[in-house]
Amino acid sequence: MIPTRTFLSWISLLYCCISLQNILCKLTVDATSSLSNPTVVIVGSGIGGTSCAYYLKKMLPDAKAIILETDSRIGGRIYDVKIDGEVFTIGAYSWAGYHGYIKELVDEMGLDRTDRDFDGEPNFVSPFTFTAWNGTHLIDTGEIATAHEESMDILEKGTVDFYIRMEDNYAILDQETFSKTEEFLSYGAFGQWPTLESRQYYTDKGVHLELQDLAMAPLQKLINSQGMEGHVFSMYASLSTSMGRGRVVGGNLKLVDALVEAASAEVFLNSTVTTVERLSNGFSVVYQRDNEQRKMYADYVVIAAPLEATDIDFQSFDPPVSQPARDWYASYVYVVAAEGYNKEYFTKDPDRDVPSFVVGTPGKASGLISITSKNMTDLIYYSVTTTSNLTADIEDMFINPSVRFEYHWNFGHPILEPHPAGGASYQDVILSPGLYNIGAMNDILTQMEGSVIAARNAALLIRQESLSASCAISFIQTLPAKIIIIFTSMWKFIIDIEY
Ligand SMILES: Cc1cc2nc3c(=O)[nH]c(=O)nc-3n(C[C@H](O)[C@H](O)[C@H](O)COP(=O)(O)OP(=O)(O)OC[C@H]3O[C@@H](n4cnc5c(N)ncnc54)[C@H](O)[C@@H]3O)c2cc1C
Repeated sequence: MIPTRTFLSWISLLYCCISLQNILCKLTVDATSSLSNPTVVIVGSGIGGTSCAYYLKKMLPDAKAIILETDSRIGGRIYDVKIDGEVFTIGAYSWAGYHGYIKELVDEMGLDRTDRDFDGEPNFVSPFTFTAWNGTHLIDTGEIATAHEESMDILEKGTVDFYIRMEDNYAILDQETFSKTEEFLSYGAFGQWPTLESRQYYTDKGVHLELQDLAMAPLQKLINSQGMEGHVFSMYASLSTSMGRGRVVGGNLKLVDALVEAASAEVFLNSTVTTVERLSNGFSVVYQRDNEQRKMYADYVVIAAPLEATDIDFQSFDPPVSQPARDWYASYVYVVAAEGYNKEYFTKDPDRDVPSFVVGTPGKASGLISITSKNMTDLIYYSVTTTSNLTADIEDMFINPSVRFEYHWNFGHPILEPHPAGGASYQDVILSPGLYNIGAMNDILTQMEGSVIAARNAALLIRQESLSASCAISFIQTLPAKIIIIFTSMWKFIIDIEY
């Protein structure tokens, strides 16, 4: 027969434990619902934002991705438009052979790409197959390269080395995440390259000045809008673009469209994020749409745009979100229908024809980056890309031109100044716990692949954080049962001693 006192003690203990378990479960259920299926707000619908949403879908299927985009279209700096029945590329055109993730995404989306025959080997292909314009004359870069065989050997060795280091970097990224750009760079042992200016580095290596000015600088201008003042990492990235260059058949915008669909992400266009506020648990994201201020809650926020372009007010962050400012080159793009080139504008050489692909030299030629042409009907359509407003020059450049499309990128490419070791730092990849900055990669790789690398990294970081938080919660949830057993045994022990 159990004594009444013992029986009452047992009942009251059981009651206490059940109440404790109820309280803990209630507390944790609310938190778990947002940790195992977090809401991720992504600012920007370029390749960075859309690939991040897709990677999240793959890595954390229950996560909810919401993309807020200030523009009335998706794609950001990927922009293909149909003009007079033809697709013209206004932004990013092609990727390089080592850009593994973007090619993988294209394949996963079932799209066709133009580089299928690339064997993946770091076989150097000279990128100097274009005509450079120095403001008065047209220069054949292929001829310049042939004239400087020894310099080309130096470039080939360095570029193949860069390619191999990128492969090492990808191999490590398969297992690891990075929280700083410096960490990303350490994965390929890129050494001093991001800290050195191209001019100094290649001169020290013995690369001829003529090759630097008339071939390398225009190439760097074509890829990154700048010249020999950029860092060496970015120059090698430019030099390697001919090794397996490719693009989506029909335009890269098809990839962005497919990613949004595959991610089942909610996309709100014409929605400008103005404020991100840190709450005790998550973030409040304020955005402007249809002249109305709206607000949504997020467990994680991904800034998939150049941070300085977003103009976001970050509130209640301790320490505050403040990042090194970067200077940017603007890009102006014109699609011009004309009867042909006005030859005198480009060359003082009467025997020289203006070819279909011309690249400007840095600092010269009204900021011209490149001109490409397509024969359509009885007119030729020229795509003109420049770093400055060239509207006034179009009349002089072409015969009877009419501008069919004009576009201005405020944030085209950042000036890729070298970051001396121990000097100015790069923008952070993690701005604050739960707040990620995909645009940080623009400091070193302002190409589509750079944003995809950062987007994949952000999705991995969110998965890691989300899963470790969920684990902690489930451990807490099992605690009440453990507490009951321990308390019960202790109570029984005390009672047994007493009686
Ligand atoms: C003319 C040109 C040619 C290029 N050519 C190539 C090329 O051939 N190959 C290559 O690999 N790369 C190229 N690039 C670079 C490449 O386009 C970019 O590196 C890449 O597309 C950047 O993608 P992203 O998603 O990081 O940023 P973005 O594409 O810039 O996307 C950011 C998005 O965020 C939105 N946004 C900004 N602020 C807010 C806000 N507050 N609220 C909501 N939305 C906001 C913007 O509207 C934009 O849509 C080129 C760039 C330019 C300008």
